[in-house]
Amino acid sequence: MLRGALAVITASLAFQLLLLRSQPAPRFVQVAGNLFSLTQWWAPIPGLPSCPVSVFLVRQGGKEGSWALIDAGVGDSWHQAPGSQLLTAVQQSIPAGEHLAVIALTHTHFDHVGALPLLLGAYSGVEVVVHEVEQPYLIGSQTWAEEAAANAGSKNWLLGGLLHWAARVGQQPVKVPAARVHSLDARVPDLSPFGVFDLLWVATPGHSPGHVGFLHKPSHTLVAGDALTFLRPQLRRRRYSGSHDARLVRTFILPPPFPSLALIARPYTLCPPFICNKREAQNAVCLLADDALDYEGIYVAHDLAASRGGGWTKGKVQELAGTMPACRQAVAHGDYMITANAG
Ligand SMILES: [Zn+2]
Repeated sequence: MLRGALAVITASLAFQLLLLRSQPAPRFVQVAGNLFSLTQWWAPIPGLPSCPVSVFLVRQGGKEGSWALIDAGVGDSWHQAPGSQLLTAVQQSIPAGEHLAVIALTHTHFDHVGALPLLLGAYSGVEVVVHEVEQPYLIGSQTWAEEAAANAGSKNWLLGGLLHWAARVGQQPVKVPAARVHSLDARVPDLSPFGVFDLLWVATPGHSPGHVGFLHKPSHTLVAGDALTFLRPQLRRRRYSGSHDARLVRTFILPPPFPSLALIARPYTLCPPFICNKREAQNAVCLLADDALDYEGIYVAHDLAASRGGGWTKGKVQELAGTMPACRQAVAHGDYMITANAG
């Protein structure tokens, strides 16, 4: 019995590793004007479904040829090389004579900074820009794992202790030399200090305290990082056929006796335990639904739609905002404008 179970688990792991290895390296695809996206498939544990992680590349129009990368995705691990693949894709996308000027981070969680060491090594002139409250996590003076452990420990010493231990034995956080890290300047609404004029930044704290989104002005497109997500895991018994249905993200065909797994898209806030402020995360959605924020399409980090060239509309965000008491309260106070069709 035990032998049989072990054989099934081993076969399943081998199958997943084979699938991971046989996947073609991701490339940047154009999503709007001079805005491109690439989706990594991060598989923390072979055998379990992988998670999409999207990064974005922006070409600044004009003769300067400056490019900006929004987020740096996940790095390499023993069974996957998504960081190296990202670096190669960036190098293939930026033509000779043009240059990567800045890497702008929505926040500093590990799945948004993973390839930074590789990118900074390859591009000696590139600067990293992040909200100032996230800087300590990037230069290594604070870690998210320790923060989660401390917050958990204040409620439950056993869980806190376990997380402390996990933080110590876990993967080392990415460290970036302080000299290459710059703070977003509250008085400057865009990335013009880095030669990129088409990107405005918008503070959307909650998922993390210094979380920001980037608005690509020419295409009216918002890159919202983890302020929202469009994933909702749901088990299905057979392959989902509606490949153009916006609700379908991806199906995973597992070897028998496991049922196939389908990820279904639905917008909601992404609030990891112990390191997220739920109330602020909901307020960020109210802000994204605000009519004053001039965008039509929205892309988030964890969503397959980005790699298919199809993001989501502001209407979807407004629908979600309409279901949140925090936003209705804000409407009552006149702080946010939510259209009549919301909720
Ligand atoms: Zn993330």
